[in-house]
Amino acid sequence: MTQTQTQQRTQKRNILISGGGIGGLCTALALHAKGHHVTLCEATETLKPLGVGINVLPHAVAVLDEIGVLDSLRKIAVETSALIFANRHGQTIYKDPRGTSAGYSHPQLSIHRGQLQMHLWEEVVKRIGQQHLHLGQKIRSVTQSADHITATAVLPDGTEVQHTADFLIAADGIHSAIRKQFYPDEGAPKWNGMMMWRGTSRVKPFLDGRSMVQAGHRRAKFVVYPIEAPSADGLQLINWICDRRLREDGFGGALTAPSREDWNQQGDLNDLLPTFGEWKFEWLDIPEVLHGATQLFEWPMVDRDPLPRWRHDRVTLLGDAAHPMYPIGSNGATQAILDAKCIADALDRDLPLEAALDEYESQRRPMCADIVRLNRQEGLDAILDVVEERSPNGFAKLEDVIDPDEIKGIVTTYKKAAGHRVG
Ligand SMILES: Cc1cc2nc3c(=O)[nH]c(=O)nc-3n(C[C@H](O)[C@H](O)[C@H](O)COP(=O)(O)OP(=O)(O)OC[C@H]3O[C@@H](n4cnc5c(N)ncnc54)[C@H](O)[C@@H]3O)c2cc1C
Repeated sequence: MTQTQTQQRTQKRNILISGGGIGGLCTALALHAKGHHVTLCEATETLKPLGVGINVLPHAVAVLDEIGVLDSLRKIAVETSALIFANRHGQTIYKDPRGTSAGYSHPQLSIHRGQLQMHLWEEVVKRIGQQHLHLGQKIRSVTQSADHITATAVLPDGTEVQHTADFLIAADGIHSAIRKQFYPDEGAPKWNGMMMWRGTSRVKPFLDGRSMVQAGHRRAKFVVYPIEAPSADGLQLINWICDRRLREDGFGGALTAPSREDWNQQGDLNDLLPTFGEWKFEWLDIPEVLHGATQLFEWPMVDRDPLPRWRHDRVTLLGDAAHPMYPIGSNGATQAILDAKCIADALDRDLPLEAALDEYESQRRPMCADIVRLNRQEGLDAILDVVEERSPNGFAKLEDVIDPDEIKGIVTTYKKAAGHRVG
């Protein structure tokens, strides 16, 4: 190894991260653990536990373990035992065991997104130090020279401050300002005609108290999973999502959503009851769940086309800024966390900066593009459509409706693309 190479290997970078969501915070922790100097700007002035439930798949939980946050997260999450696909009558079509008892090295976590973010934030404050973290600073744009970047951040009162660093990681979400700087003509995210109402309720635990269920079909689907352990009153906080198709012509993401995509947009129960108001399963009364909502948001099912490249000299994209995808298959937070590990590992190699960023991109971009495309074909949920088409009124024996090998084929294709690893 030459002396220059040795210096490159040991070189610790000054890195600016734009965005303190799940992706930005995990990246900050992963880079800090490798000895880099991280500065993070988050547009929100005060972080609050926003959002509802989110799932993190085992291979991303392994990353949370590696960055040293898993033990404490386990206390506020549910370790998912299985993902169950059911028809609109609550009959099981396919059960996919999850977590350690299914042979994965790590559990799958169902957790409140806001609590996950707050927890990661506290760790970032503890390890990196408040002086390197800037709330209320929205990174508007970036300029570059041969050896550094300068990013301009806008404060809530409109004044501007500048940050310099060796390079910038834009983890600023689906409306990324930095992505827009490099792709000014991209336009709004693409909508598939589906609206999602996301809520939480407190109910008696259903099934084994750790299962995630997706029931229904492509026009109307109910997804439900617990996100906290039962409390002393015997009730458990569950996350639920009602997906309802409002337009039939949006496959492949051809439409513009009816409203700007805003994770904090309040939903209205009256939009759900006509479709889901009579869905009662043996193990869960959906109307009761909906009427008991403690939070209710609406979000159009949107994504963006995969990009031809993420790196632009000393700037790269990560998480939803790089690969916004439909929230199908628990991949939103999962893929952002995998990005975090990948970029930290790439920078730890014996490579010049641009090559390290290219290494990260070559590992992550094709894979995320595949997931975006598979989710447009509904991912694993394709199983539901096949069964609905063949037996809309339910079935006596599942084998009369679908061959188990057909299900296995759909499951294997999707899992391979999403990088599931058992063991
Ligand atoms: C408020 C909120 C609630 C959500 N709720 C859910 C949910 O309930 N269920 C679910 O599945 N997914 C939810 N998501 C999306 C989910 O968190 C992401 O899909 C996934 O975790 C990938 O995370 P990310 O860090 O790439 O993006 P995000 O989680 O979107 O984080 C991006 C961060 O960047 C910040 N930001 C944006 N622009 C700038 C800028 N110019 N400069 C600096 N910072 C900026 C944002 O405030 C945000 O904190 C939510 C996202 C947000 C922001």
